[in-house]
Amino acid sequence: MASTGNGIGAKPKRRRGSRGGRRHKKAAAAIAEPQAAEPIAPVEEQQPDPQAKPTRRRGSRGGQRHKKTTAATDKAEPQAAEPTTPVEEQQPEPQTKPKRQRGGQRSKKATADARPSRVTARPPLTTTRARTPVTGAPTEDVPAPFAHPAEYEFARILDFYGITWQYEPRSFPLRWEHGHVAEAFTPDFYLPDLNMYIEITTLKTGLTAEKNRKMRLLKQLHPEVNIKLLKKRDYLRLLAKYGYGPLAPEQVPEIDRVLIPVTKLQRRVGELGALISHDYADKEPVLIGILRGVICFMSDLMRSISIPAAAVDFMSVSSYEGNGSGAVRILKDLDENIKGRDVILVEDIVDTGMTLNHIIEYLQSKRPASLKVCTLLDKQVRRIANVPLDYIGFEIPDEFVVGYGLDFRQRFRNLPFIAVLKHDLLP
Ligand code: 5GP
Repeated sequence: MASTGNGIGAKPKRRRGSRGGRRHKKAAAAIAEPQAAEPIAPVEEQQPDPQAKPTRRRGSRGGQRHKKTTAATDKAEPQAAEPTTPVEEQQPEPQTKPKRQRGGQRSKKATADARPSRVTARPPLTTTRARTPVTGAPTEDVPAPFAHPAEYEFARILDFYGITWQYEPRSFPLRWEHGHVAEAFTPDFYLPDLNMYIEITTLKTGLTAEKNRKMRLLKQLHPEVNIKLLKKRDYLRLLAKYGYGPLAPEQVPEIDRVLIPVTKLQRRVGELGALISHDYADKEPVLIGILRGVICFMSDLMRSISIPAAAVDFMSVSSYEGNGSGAVRILKDLDENIKGRDVILVEDIVDTGMTLNHIIEYLQSKRPASLKVCTLLDKQVRRIANVPLDYIGFEIPDEFVVGYGLDFRQRFRNLPFIAVLKHDLLP
């Protein structure tokens, strides 16, 4: 938010986990009671319910891995995921299928018989601890359950973007003999959020024909299954198409993981804009953004507000540092006169609330007709000053976040998503 205050380096006294002590409590006592916020879309509410899945975790596959063909040919063209019921519920019974003769070659996957779903439980997006760290280039030392570095790399990219995945959760029968499955195909990944199976290919030419045959058979026999054959260079392209990306974890080694992907940001900002448009339908509000962290949020929010007469102004302040002066210095004042106007203060993030508290006091002294606060992010867990927040984008955990306007030492403002900075970078 504040031009001199964004980033840990600029605010050495504000440490994550240190709540400020007595001086903060004193300040908080002087501040108004919190009001009920407008409808909130906390990140937690938007995540797939981890309880809904079996608890198999990565690293314990609970059985023998099928030997898989790793070659492939065609490049996967991502398609829109269809909101269908899980494919597990739609499988044909092996016994009811006609026997398909394929020259008598018995696949090494022939043991599969609609295996029970083996699922990797993923923690919800906003857990405060980092999950599998995304540390750099793929290693040849591939951990279980992965059979190939390409699979491991893909899993780490999925982790980085907070995308739930299951490794080889099921096999699809391809051929039956005497009522038994004689050949099956086990895709590498299932992405429940996208209802999509992924088969990773490393393009070993000798195995191309066999891989193609299996993919064709799978599509023929199980047309409801949404499966993509992915080459390494297509990983990020596919994820970008679904609103993730476009960065590989290796390109941003300072980032631990994506907390709020682009699509969720855009959807929620649109909702906030609609709410404000509704609440101020017969008014001419002034949106006041606090520079610089608010730039992305403000530019998206103002365009999703359908009130033609809305005005926009900006302030820049130094963040509250609890240095005894109790003051927030104004570095850039308003250009608009807000006396008698309906003001909406637009913030990127409210952390302790101390800075916002001072800004509210300052704006109230200008005697607006009304004053409401709209913040993209609410780190409620660290709140000291009970400032009223009228519109909240996301409640987030106690993490230092960057991207979408928010910086760490003036970097990362241009990331299109909200991401968690690696803990070891923080002072
Ligand atoms: P507060 O006064 O509410 O503690 O926070 C004031 C300012 O600290 C925010 O407006 C923002 O500039 C900065 N800040 C707090 N938490 C974060 C964070 O997680 N990431 C970034 N980039 N800035 C933060």
